[in-house]
Amino acid sequence: MTTSYHNHSTWSDGTTAISEMVSAAEQIGLLEVGVSDHFVLYPGGEQVGWTMPLDRLGEYLEDIQAAARGAKVTVRAGIEADFFPETVETLRAILAQHPFDYVIGSVHYLDGFPIDEHRRFWDALSVEQREEKWRLYWERIRQLAQSRVYDFVGHLDLPKKFGHRPTISHAEAQTAALDAIAAADMAIEINTAGWSLPAQEAYPALSLLRAARERDIPLLINADAHAPAHLTRHFDRARDLAREAGYDHLVRYERRQRVAVPL
Ligand SMILES: [Zn+2]
Ligand SMILES: [Zn+2]
Repeated sequence: MTTSYHNHSTWSDGTTAISEMVSAAEQIGLLEVGVSDHFVLYPGGEQVGWTMPLDRLGEYLEDIQAAARGAKVTVRAGIEADFFPETVETLRAILAQHPFDYVIGSVHYLDGFPIDEHRRFWDALSVEQREEKWRLYWERIRQLAQSRVYDFVGHLDLPKKFGHRPTISHAEAQTAALDAIAAADMAIEINTAGWSLPAQEAYPALSLLRAARERDIPLLINADAHAPAHLTRHFDRARDLAREAGYDHLVRYERRQRVAVPL
């Protein structure tokens, strides 16, 4: 009953075409595979190198539909859209024009600071500046949830990617973010990519996963694959982690309606 919904193709920064991702999903025997390329509506009109072309959403969806035709796996049309306070209303209007199965909300930038691009950006900060990034990150996640534009949050504690963990508690901002996710009836994912990165653990950490479970926040397990070989990377570990946090169900999506499936 495995689904894998957070995956990138050559429409953004993935290495292979959508059709190849779908073929790989068939071979693995997935129940459902989703494509979720980056859509980055950067404030001020600047365009980051790893977003899909912002004016080609229709073609992107047609490409997903073409790959789905005749496939022996259910193919879902998703997108990973960055949250920026400055552009979220424009994003809302754009997304409303297209029939997605789900929309992933991610924060990769904090007022221009690139969270996951390279560790040198974190290394250059003082301890106090890093704490400020963490605090701002949780504030952005709270705002992302409150926008109600998205179905689930991508890689919930991304700032740990290069191993820079907080040295003080951000419990207040973190709690506000989780409460907002629950209030918006959004889900989160275990993003298994972190296990292959300096963070050396999945996103989010077990403590956050437990806090999400306490709030009945639904869960998916995703790989953030940028190549077909990674479609289900570390999924066994992720299922164990989900159980450890108290989960016995995961969710899948169809036309932005959530359906529960046994873990
Ligand atoms: Zn991401
Ligand atoms: Zn991603």
